[in-house]
Amino acid sequence: MERNGYRIIFLGPPGAGKGTQAEKLSRYLGIKKISTGDILREAVHNGTDLGKKAKEYMEKGELVPDDIMIGLIEEAIGSERNFILDGFPRTLKQAESLDDMLSRKNLYITHVLLMNVPDEEIITRISKRRICPKCQTVYNLVYNPPKNDEVCDRCGEKLVQRKDDSEEVVKNRLRVYKESTQPLVGFYEVRGLVKVIEGSGTPEEVFKRITEAL
Ligand code: AMP
Repeated sequence: MERNGYRIIFLGPPGAGKGTQAEKLSRYLGIKKISTGDILREAVHNGTDLGKKAKEYMEKGELVPDDIMIGLIEEAIGSERNFILDGFPRTLKQAESLDDMLSRKNLYITHVLLMNVPDEEIITRISKRRICPKCQTVYNLVYNPPKNDEVCDRCGEKLVQRKDDSEEVVKNRLRVYKESTQPLVGFYEVRGLVKVIEGSGTPEEVFKRITEAL
């Protein structure tokens, strides 16, 4: 078993800041971040087979079927031995498949960071979320605004709101999170891997809690 390294999972409801923090941590540790949401959004944008299969689930705030996601993560991890997962696993089946896949390589998950944000805050945060359609950088007009009005700092594209960030779809995503993904907390807790990270405050404040927890 490989003892060194970082194989980190970000868990938490939509809008908890997983993507933003995973990106920061990826730069800090110098390891790859794999965001299944980003991969799927890009596939939808490019109209690939994967995108065509995923689109209708994503628009409704439902989960893309496990068999598709398991294949996708296997390909995304490839030969990486250190990585940060943002948005995967989201079901028990995905978590078990990930374990199997890692154990075949003598690897295991090292940390599970559970981002904790109250439901009321999620809805307000998501309504202020904007994303760059080109490089996928995530902003929040209140907590993490772009330097210039609703334009991406990195590539100058006009920021947009995610289609699935409408209030109605967010409510469904929260329901799906509670039903399918929240049980994973227990799955990893019995192994002593879970660290709860208070998700409120600025991205810098939250990031400091993460580096302390690691
Ligand atoms: P996210 O950007 O993580 O909020 O993901 C956006 C959407 O992509 C989700 O609402 C799901 O429809 C889909 N998705 C992302 N990751 C997964 C996953 N691990 N399993 C199933 N569906 C996923």
